[in-house]
Amino acid sequence: MTAKILDGKALAQRLRTDMRAQTSQMQASHGRAPGLAVILVGEDPASQIYVNNKKRACEEVGIISFSHALPASTSKEHLLGLIAELNRDAHVDGILVQLPLPDHIDPEQIIEAIDPAKDVDGFHPYNLGCLSARKPALRSCTPYGCMRLLEETGEDLHGKEAVVIGASNIVGRPMALELLLAGSTVTIAHRFTRDLAAHIQRADIVVAAAGKPGLVKGEWIRKGAIVIDVGIHRREDGSLCGDVEFDEAAKRAAWITPVPGGVGPMTICMLLANTLQAHNARF
Ligand code: NAD
Repeated sequence: MTAKILDGKALAQRLRTDMRAQTSQMQASHGRAPGLAVILVGEDPASQIYVNNKKRACEEVGIISFSHALPASTSKEHLLGLIAELNRDAHVDGILVQLPLPDHIDPEQIIEAIDPAKDVDGFHPYNLGCLSARKPALRSCTPYGCMRLLEETGEDLHGKEAVVIGASNIVGRPMALELLLAGSTVTIAHRFTRDLAAHIQRADIVVAAAGKPGLVKGEWIRKGAIVIDVGIHRREDGSLCGDVEFDEAAKRAAWITPVPGGVGPMTICMLLANTLQAHNARF
């Protein structure tokens, strides 16, 4: 292996230590700690784990989390009512609705009901619009975490050829906008892209977020490229892997994120950072 590892777990730990100090200062100067409301609808086991991890991370940095666990039968109207209440609540700086929602609730309508100033996931069209207009406000957590990891390489991103694989509203699209804002030349690949290998072979930066294990072959990686793997998949033996063939890619890349321990811990970390930002903006 020649690539250096972009260690998201270690970076997230460092950032959380800094945030702990910031929340103490906020508590002292604003009279209250930052607050995050976390809404979980239904009993999906994976979502329960994600929500618990987020609550634990909040506690570690001194953010107060307000939990709202609702049954899967919750109506859209009830959920919208709760969001309206949290939008008005002066102790709540951020509102997070854990996705996916039950089938009878349209996630877009729910996201759009959140006050953009409290949209700490960065999913609201207003916040996506701000990013596309080069005035980032609350930024989508996963792409924001990827940018923070890219910063760790010390590389100047201006003029770099970047390929983002995946075009979802929560990862691929905002990731492409982040890289564009950083001055890279960005290609977005998606399920209709004809020759993925050709795009990746000329990329200085590859961000894989297709949700397909092993989609990106190690031999496609250009020597010296930076590889950020957003995908997370559980293999039959219980271990985790990403969208990129790690071992082969690591022989060619200059930098690479592991799965687990790369992008995942950074996503939660940027949720905390957004909550602090949303809190500060209110004072
Ligand atoms: P999604 O299913 O909404 O979007 C996938 C995108 O990949 C689509 O735009 C699709 O067109 C594209 N795609 C599918 N097959 C492709 C192919 N063969 N070639 C090129 N593009 C292809 O998924 P998402 O929510 O954006 O998540 C993507 C992955 O990232 C998933 O594995 C998810 O678990 C993971 N994820 C990880 C984190 C984290 O914190 N590490 C956060 C969010 C998502």
